[in-house]
Amino acid sequence: MDQFVYRDGELYCENVPVARIADAVGTPTYVYSAATFRGHYRAVTEGFRDLRPIICYSIKSCQNLHILKLLAGLGAGMDVVSGGELYRALKAGADPARIVYAGVGKSDAEINQAIDAGIGWFNIESEAELANLVEIARQRRQVVRAALRVNPDVDPKTHRHTSTGKRESKFGVDLERARRVFDEFGRSEHVRLCGIHLHIGSPVFTVEPYVEAVTKALDLIAELRAAGFTIDTLDLGGGFGASYHDGQSPMPGDYAARIVPLLRGRNLQVIIEPGRSISANAGILLARTVFVKRGGDKQFIIIDAAMTDLIRPALYDAFHFAWPAAPGTRFVPPGRRTDLDMPGCTAADIVGPVCETADFLARDRKLPPVQRGDLMALFTAGAYGFVMASHYNSRPNAAEILVDGDSFRIIRRRETYDDLLAAENQPE
Ligand SMILES: *Cc1c(COP(=O)(O)O)cnc(C)c1O
Repeated sequence: MDQFVYRDGELYCENVPVARIADAVGTPTYVYSAATFRGHYRAVTEGFRDLRPIICYSIKSCQNLHILKLLAGLGAGMDVVSGGELYRALKAGADPARIVYAGVGKSDAEINQAIDAGIGWFNIESEAELANLVEIARQRRQVVRAALRVNPDVDPKTHRHTSTGKRESKFGVDLERARRVFDEFGRSEHVRLCGIHLHIGSPVFTVEPYVEAVTKALDLIAELRAAGFTIDTLDLGGGFGASYHDGQSPMPGDYAARIVPLLRGRNLQVIIEPGRSISANAGILLARTVFVKRGGDKQFIIIDAAMTDLIRPALYDAFHFAWPAAPGTRFVPPGRRTDLDMPGCTAADIVGPVCETADFLARDRKLPPVQRGDLMALFTAGAYGFVMASHYNSRPNAAEILVDGDSFRIIRRRETYDDLLAAENQPE
């Protein structure tokens, strides 16, 4: 699953003890494993190989330029949702023809930026957006390619904040409206509306919603083709799960095993937009214990990372496995489980220093004895971790480190107080 393992009672990322990283660059720090990124990318490629898909890594899940370079170097395309992400993708050397651009509120400036770059597909979320794209392309006398995002009305059974493919949603259009959109725009000379885009939610921990969504999309494609439209692309979106605890998610190959047979021989360029399934288990958040506060039968482990570094627990009540980075051989965790309890462990909440009750990283865990100064690791933090960081409470953002084999390097330096003020320092 990943390259974060305990050896002799100490946590390693590949061949580097994470304590060595903390000593060198301080905490809180995100630590990523290059081998894990490569392995996960390959697992998706291998699983879907028969379809020869374009794999567009979802930048928003983990956007560090050096990680994008690593993936672009393996041939990954990119899924972007803003001009800023497009800028990153291009700086990382991604092939523009393998970039797809989704998002419900693309501005004219962003659309022009994307046409200038020569991206592969615009993923269209509404009639208004499509009308605007047609107008911009017409004025520029250019032809661009687009896929219509369709809500197949399947329930991905994920958190209501991350479910996107139901009928009522700010994303995409429903199946009925999709036909009308093609009638209205499907013959435009300037926007070649040649694809269907799906993205049903994230994370989707079962394969069934994909099977259902793809089946509905294929029906729609057959109908559109029968009506004379050329449909040559099906973008399946992202949302494949990652295991925050052992065995929680199917592997990319499991999704592929069900999806690939549906799409063989359909004369469709398939696109996949995996984010979390590649990045989540490729990163941990490493923090140091500032204080241990004992109260009643519970203790609070106050660490130097906070909701400003990893907001998923506060935002989605998300579970991240948390464990000391050097617990000693007696407390090597036998797995990442929600209910892990070993002899000698006590109940604890892991909280940050920010002035909000929601500032917690882990709740009601059974943890080995922890002391001031001990390193704590929050696992499966590579996706929607650092990218959602904020500066609330004037907290500089954490450093990001990329481990590759025996060595590591800083891929984002820790921010300074001057960084916090940089955009506010105006001439008097
Ligand atoms: C967020 C997003 C993805 C990636 O989702 P993951 O769950 O990280 O795989 C893919 N496509 C679109 C359009 C998205 O918004």
